[in-house]
Amino acid sequence: MGDRTAVNKRDKMREVRILSAALVFAFSLGSVTVAQVRSVSEPSPLRQTPASSATKASAPAVAQPQAPPQKVTKYTLPPERFKKARDLARIHFRFTLISVVYGLVVLWLVLRWKISAKYRTWAEQMSSKRFLQAVVFSPLLVLTIDILELPAEVYRNWVSRAYGISVQGWGSWFWDWTKGEIISIIVAIIFIWILYGVIRKSPRRWWFYFWLAALPIGIFLVFLQPLIIDPLFHKFEPLAEKDPALTASLERMVQRAGENIPPERMFWMGAGEKTTALDAYVTGVGASKRIVVFDTTIAKMTTPQIVYVAGHEMGHYVLRHIPKGIAFFGVLLLAFFYLGFRLIGWMLANWGAYWGIRGVHDWASLPALLFLLSVFFFLASPISSAFSRYLEHQADEYGLEVTHGLTPDSGQVAAQAFQILGDVDLANPEPNPVDEFLFYSHPSIPDRIQFALTYDPWSKGEQPEFVK
Ligand SMILES: [Zn+2]
Repeated sequence: MGDRTAVNKRDKMREVRILSAALVFAFSLGSVTVAQVRSVSEPSPLRQTPASSATKASAPAVAQPQAPPQKVTKYTLPPERFKKARDLARIHFRFTLISVVYGLVVLWLVLRWKISAKYRTWAEQMSSKRFLQAVVFSPLLVLTIDILELPAEVYRNWVSRAYGISVQGWGSWFWDWTKGEIISIIVAIIFIWILYGVIRKSPRRWWFYFWLAALPIGIFLVFLQPLIIDPLFHKFEPLAEKDPALTASLERMVQRAGENIPPERMFWMGAGEKTTALDAYVTGVGASKRIVVFDTTIAKMTTPQIVYVAGHEMGHYVLRHIPKGIAFFGVLLLAFFYLGFRLIGWMLANWGAYWGIRGVHDWASLPALLFLLSVFFFLASPISSAFSRYLEHQADEYGLEVTHGLTPDSGQVAAQAFQILGDVDLANPEPNPVDEFLFYSHPSIPDRIQFALTYDPWSKGEQPEFVK
């Protein structure tokens, strides 16, 4: 499904993994994929993976921490990088749209070729126990779909490598894919087993009971993600050990905010062996909640710039964006499950016999349900992207407020941070409005820089919104 990918590195500083939440629910039905699990910054479904620049050798000409930062008045790129950024954005946008369609074609083929009916028959022959049937059926279906979609994933990484965003070798990339498949399969078995158990028990209310069961499991997975899943793909160290000076600066900011984020909740992530992209994010729930800063960000930015980035992340943390994201996607999913319930009967009445499916309660109906969910997610992408952009804008504002008075010329520092981010990640200086409307999880870099340079309630005698 096109939905799996998620990153939109064009616009980074992505972080709140609203998606973590969404992904877990949304793709709960067995299609949690590597991309989602693996990619550091997951935005929202149907989002694109980005990529880009030249390899490390011909690395982007970006301001290095040593050089005195140049004054930023708007987002600019040198002509050659400008062209690259624009080309890359076009590739991504087209690829995202094509991969949505391609994902639907894959599910349709799985139905049309009666592959899921075949797997159901094998599962039933293997055992009469429902759970064991799920253990046979789910991995076969997940692997079939994901292998059919593998060419798209390979293309995505190929583009990332060609533009120098990804520096990950193919062996390592494929190993990540494999780990992602293993996680997907485990999660899929659990969700698929519950889903079909509920459908058989309550043919008319399963959409609600399954949602009720999926919600706590999804939240539990968000809790586990930073503890178990993320460390399978990247190395994490306490930030205080990796960079004590930076940690001290961050703690001053935390104090300024009047918040209590202990240093144990700040982590350094070794992203540089796989990507050149800069990023930071907030993830986890409850005891696993944390702020993560990429090593690449630390290497390319000055301390005040990193403090701004961390201030943005802290905004997500303090403004409770993760629970809000979970609530948002929870409501969306409930609507999708209900619509799926209403439409699946019609779909199977028309084509079920042709696909070898006995009814909704048949394991074999799963690709049809996934097909409907994919369509819903695509149709809802303007809403979920707008919601994500809204939270990101709040976090940008929070970062400006929390660094005001702490960092000299804090608006300019924030603008510099965005300029570096945009340059390294090849953010498009002239975003396609349709692409932005449908898929941007963050405001565009030109907009973010503009906002950083003009947001100034203090000089007007107004109260800042979040940090008084
Ligand atoms: Zn953010």
